[in-house]
Amino acid sequence: MKVGSSKIPSKTASTESGLNSGALLQVSEVGFDYANLPILDNVSISVGRGEFIAIVGPSGCGKSTLLNVISGVLQPRSGTITSDGLVTRIERLGSISYLQQRDLLLPWRTVAENSRLGLELRGHKTLNSNKSVLELAKQFGIADVLGHMPWQLSGGMRQRVALLRAVLPENPVLLLDEPFGALDAISRRQLQRWLVEVLDTSEKAVILVTHDVEEAILLADRVVVMASNPGHIISEVPVVLDDRSYKFDLVTDPEFLRLKSAIIKMLDTQESVR
Ligand code: ADP
Repeated sequence: MKVGSSKIPSKTASTESGLNSGALLQVSEVGFDYANLPILDNVSISVGRGEFIAIVGPSGCGKSTLLNVISGVLQPRSGTITSDGLVTRIERLGSISYLQQRDLLLPWRTVAENSRLGLELRGHKTLNSNKSVLELAKQFGIADVLGHMPWQLSGGMRQRVALLRAVLPENPVLLLDEPFGALDAISRRQLQRWLVEVLDTSEKAVILVTHDVEEAILLADRVVVMASNPGHIISEVPVVLDDRSYKFDLVTDPEFLRLKSAIIKMLDTQESVR
């Protein structure tokens, strides 16, 4: 994602089927069942280098399951997933950063030790890792609690640590499942801005799952809308606003409101059908 450069189209344009040979992350015709019950059907998404995708959809439509499948936590029934050239589930497990809804901080490690975990797993030296953690910790507002244990932190602070830990490693793909769900409105907006700043110069392919349509439009280059039973994609909405650097001030902009209303209509229609 490049803040302030919205006039440049997404670096990797996708086809209508969501397939694109130049994508950094390519999800092709993925299906997934829980105990023979279809949960995902024929899901295809491609995400380019530096592109930020948001997924919205009704509760239970399979958004978290989709991230579990992409990350390699779950094996799909059908379809293929390629992440930066890696195709097997095990390869992806080690190369994709994934922030799940529960923060999963290790209770026996300090905030600093939790934050540098992803770097450690990639073989970085502790001294260098600590330096990288400290730089971002200031930005994420957790520099003062680096020596604390997770149990000493509020839910919102724990989530900041988990977000920092997910963003820090140089993994090409970043998956975020409702990363701001536990935060109050002010912290939420603050962390959204920090995330945008941190990813500004990044080449990562990012997928964010959120129930918040405004958040999806504020953060993403493209909003993917899902429907249920089984989970499938019904629309991909490109977010093209005049100047992304002012995105956060755009909540009353006519184009912003048009996108928001179009996406909410798609979600409402599904609610009335169910
Ligand atoms: P979302 O993230 O869109 O709210 P989920 O991916 O969490 O949806 O769930 C999709 C569907 O899969 C739901 O119907 C849910 O009940 C079902 N599900 C989730 N986890 C399991 C599981 N471990 N076993 C069986 N069904 C599950």
